[in-house]
Amino acid sequence: MKKDFIFNDVNKLKGVGAQLSKYLKKKKIEKVKDIILNLPYSETDRSKLYKLNELEVGKIQSIKVIVKKLNFPRVRNLPNTIKCEDETGKINITYFNSREGYLRKLFPLNEWVIVSGKINYFNKNYQITNPDYVTTLDNKDYVVKNIPKYNLTKGINEKKYRSISEQVINQIPSITDWLDEDYINKHNLLGWNLSINKLHKSKDGKNNLSKSFRRLVFDELCANFFTLSESRKRIKKNKLSKKIIKEKSNFIEKRLPFSLTKSQEKVLSEINEDLNSEKRMFRIIQGDVGSGKTIVSLLAISNVIESGYQCALMGPTEILAKQHFELAKKIYKDTNFKIDLLTGKTEIKERKKILENLEKGKTNLIIGTHSLFQKKINFRKLGLAIIDEQHKFGVKQRSELAKKGGNNCDVLLMSATPIPRTMMMSLYGDMDISKITEKPNNRKKINTISKPEKKVNELWPFLKKQILNKNQIFWVCPLIEESSFLDFSSAKKKFDLINKKFPNQVGLIHGALDKNEKEIVLKKFLDKKISILVSTTVIEVGIDFPNANLIVIENANKFGLAQLHQLRGRVGRGEKQGTCVLLFKDGLSKNAIKRIKILKSSDDGFYIAEEDLKLRGFGDLIGYQQSGIKNFRFADPVIHEDLFKLAEKYVFSNEININEDKYSFLLKLFDRAEIINVGEI
Ligand code: ADP
Ligand code: MG
Repeated sequence: MKKDFIFNDVNKLKGVGAQLSKYLKKKKIEKVKDIILNLPYSETDRSKLYKLNELEVGKIQSIKVIVKKLNFPRVRNLPNTIKCEDETGKINITYFNSREGYLRKLFPLNEWVIVSGKINYFNKNYQITNPDYVTTLDNKDYVVKNIPKYNLTKGINEKKYRSISEQVINQIPSITDWLDEDYINKHNLLGWNLSINKLHKSKDGKNNLSKSFRRLVFDELCANFFTLSESRKRIKKNKLSKKIIKEKSNFIEKRLPFSLTKSQEKVLSEINEDLNSEKRMFRIIQGDVGSGKTIVSLLAISNVIESGYQCALMGPTEILAKQHFELAKKIYKDTNFKIDLLTGKTEIKERKKILENLEKGKTNLIIGTHSLFQKKINFRKLGLAIIDEQHKFGVKQRSELAKKGGNNCDVLLMSATPIPRTMMMSLYGDMDISKITEKPNNRKKINTISKPEKKVNELWPFLKKQILNKNQIFWVCPLIEESSFLDFSSAKKKFDLINKKFPNQVGLIHGALDKNEKEIVLKKFLDKKISILVSTTVIEVGIDFPNANLIVIENANKFGLAQLHQLRGRVGRGEKQGTCVLLFKDGLSKNAIKRIKILKSSDDGFYIAEEDLKLRGFGDLIGYQQSGIKNFRFADPVIHEDLFKLAEKYVFSNEININEDKYSFLLKLFDRAEIINVGEI
């Protein structure tokens, strides 16, 4: 059997017809390898043989009995019955729709047989109807083994799937392991073929700490790291270096109404070094909301422009792009840089002119939304592309973006989602990472308080005071509509309630609004036409609301720590003291109390992300799931932390030719092959 077998379509397998392969596809089982990776979630232990006085109704059990009598009633709808016994009791094995000849062969009179199936009780007798397995003693092996159980959906018969899976596992050709035997032994792993076998045929499949499971995790991680490292190699090619003129940038920096934090300085110099180098920059700035990433990126721009290149800055929304635009205009007020804003709202006529200037090279810096990187937009000489809040970009999109920028274009990404250390490389291993770890020191620490929801009335006077002082308030609810299953507060109801208390002061944003409607409300808030914004969690992360200094979060236990931290980061961005009120239902769990403590004690996003991971475990990190971070099937950064480190070291400190068969096998196995196959960059 050739290795290619593994990547065949499932419908090439014996016994898989059109109908079944349709159902399998629904379960994302399309290729033979998907069957291999679909591990049993549990198994039925049929190895133990029970005495008839030990049977438990409803359980799947195996018994050893002697065949006493076979009954074949010649009446329709009555089952064929085989009466069996052991020294402790009696049992009936019944069959509907089975032929006599077949059963006589299966159950030779007065001989011992092993029968395995679900135990029932009928007419004062134990009974197994249509048993799963029947065999004579000489063929004991057939029953005496563990039967794996797979997660299945409607339309797929368990026994059928198991036989297909068994067929596949038994047919897997012996592959050339991409790991050396020495390495496998040294790190307490197992060979690939052996692991796969054990994962399906023993308890290993559901034990994520077993050697064979860990081997699969290691493979998955390496496939991921290989992809990142390969993508990185392709992007970090030679380019023309950009001049760094210290005096010029110092001059601009001095015009800021504040001085940069040490962290900002450090990151800026890392960026400048990259710009100046003869390898392309592919860097991400990680920093909490409000740590001052945007300013740093805008400062990096000046050297690129002075070197004769254009820059592009892309934000996730119109409002954010506009804010960046206003800020850039301020920063570069005394320069002759030509700066333009291009969004979906830009009128056709103006748009045409902007694009023309861009193409002619008249524009030095263009700021906008996603549309900046559309096909029809042509730069004359793009030297730096900056993407803000990019956490929704995967490896593939990042490398496509780099490709689009062209050979001399440096790429800088910014993310406000602090990532726990273990996950950093598995997410961003294709890039260099800069971290802004401190906040501007004029920033006051946000005052975080918790309150039971039933005392919500105590908040109204506080809100009133804030509004009198011309402060603004976020009110966050977890869901839009009242749900009958979940006891969530409804943003809509809350809006009505608050609006009654503070008429014409309240706006509402929720997931069902389209982008435009959302931006209208946000703009009203930004322009201070309303004081309170009731919303689900859809408020954009990056927008600067210098006037907002109070955020109330309802049902705070529904959010993760990292999410709560992000939410509270939306207030206290200006000079004002920010306050975050966490509302809880009664009866806080120990865990919830711990979480509040952590939030109260720290405002370091990186620390909080680590604690969040520890407290909730990876499986639960909803926030990450949404941002596409959760892309592993087997690996878990909490449980397999050591393997994350090991795989990282393996991949990044070995020179590996990804085109070698054994590596492409690995990449294909985990669907990574096409991610890096985006052509020359
Ligand atoms: P981020 O993009 O990381 O969320 P921004 O760059 O938008 O942060 O900065 C948030 C706010 O802090 C802005 O109003 C900005 O002008 C201000 N700011 C940035 N750096 C500093 C600093 N070193 N000192 C004081 N204020 C700063
Ligand atoms: Mg920002």
